[in-house]
Amino acid sequence: MKRAVYHGIEDVRIEEAAIPEPGPGEIVVQNKVTLTCGTDVKMFLRGYRYDPPHLIGHEASGVVHAIGEGVTAFAIGDRVVAHNTAPCHRCYYCKKGNQSMCVDLPSNLGAYAEYQLIPARIVNETTFLLQDTMDYEQAALTEPLACAVYGTAEVPIEIGDTVVVNGCGPIGLMFVRLAHLRGARVIATDVNTKRLALATKLGAQHTVAITPETDQVAAVRALTEDGRGVDIAIEATGLPHVWLLAFDMVCPGGTVLFFGGTKKGTTVEFDCTRFHYDQITTKGVFHTTPIHVRAAFELLAMNAIRHEDFVQNSYGLDDVTTALREHARGDVIKNCIRYA
Ligand SMILES: [Zn+2]
Ligand SMILES: [Zn+2]
Repeated sequence: MKRAVYHGIEDVRIEEAAIPEPGPGEIVVQNKVTLTCGTDVKMFLRGYRYDPPHLIGHEASGVVHAIGEGVTAFAIGDRVVAHNTAPCHRCYYCKKGNQSMCVDLPSNLGAYAEYQLIPARIVNETTFLLQDTMDYEQAALTEPLACAVYGTAEVPIEIGDTVVVNGCGPIGLMFVRLAHLRGARVIATDVNTKRLALATKLGAQHTVAITPETDQVAAVRALTEDGRGVDIAIEATGLPHVWLLAFDMVCPGGTVLFFGGTKKGTTVEFDCTRFHYDQITTKGVFHTTPIHVRAAFELLAMNAIRHEDFVQNSYGLDDVTTALREHARGDVIKNCIRYA
């Protein structure tokens, strides 16, 4: 089989390998589609936390090709989507209910490949059978949507609240959609007007197109009563100056969700007086948890989010770097790798 291997920054190679064989509890999936993700792009252009060479890609769906000893939940030929992690449920953080902080939460990479091994823990907990009506592209959105579902669940969005989403990449657009579904009035900001048009389609009531001259905080506050600010500000860019802007957009008693991961070693400064007297809540969120993966899969099954809005161009595995570069330029929300 063919698979993509990450050898370092801007060095992803397509290599031949044996089709994996499943051990006890494991399954092997023949991938039908793999979606590009901002994390893959970061890995490709900036490097990653694991030492190369290693596999790459984590948003795929396909058909069960082989099952290991003891697997009863799935059979050969089943159409499935497997999430990229499953927590241990044994460590301190898992027991506290913070499964995304699990000390043993390896990311199952290798979705850019014709076949992929799914570890037992993921088979047991975060792999789902597709209904006949669900297509592979739709199912492959489970992982990114699960992250946005978790982030949304971690902030108190009430019906009638005003929520700003800063950054309309794939995850930001999912936040727009989820906040809208929760009954909030959503403001979306981005530099890219095409993305803002999509935000409107997904439920944003207002958009703010950012230019170098835009005072983003003033523009967002102007869309709130008496300019008091929004109830919830979501940061979905991973840029430190946007972390600060999001903090300045919330009203007294408001909550800021810091979702976009920044470069290692990044710091920002907040106004402590405002933090204290305006009683601002800030929340960092990383990845997702199994219950939110399940919720994301359910939302996709009910078409609350449609892949047609998120997935643009298709490529073969040989052109994976072209697909990643196009994603990096922001020309598309996501790209899709298809297998023969
Ligand atoms: Zn992803
Ligand atoms: Zn754990």
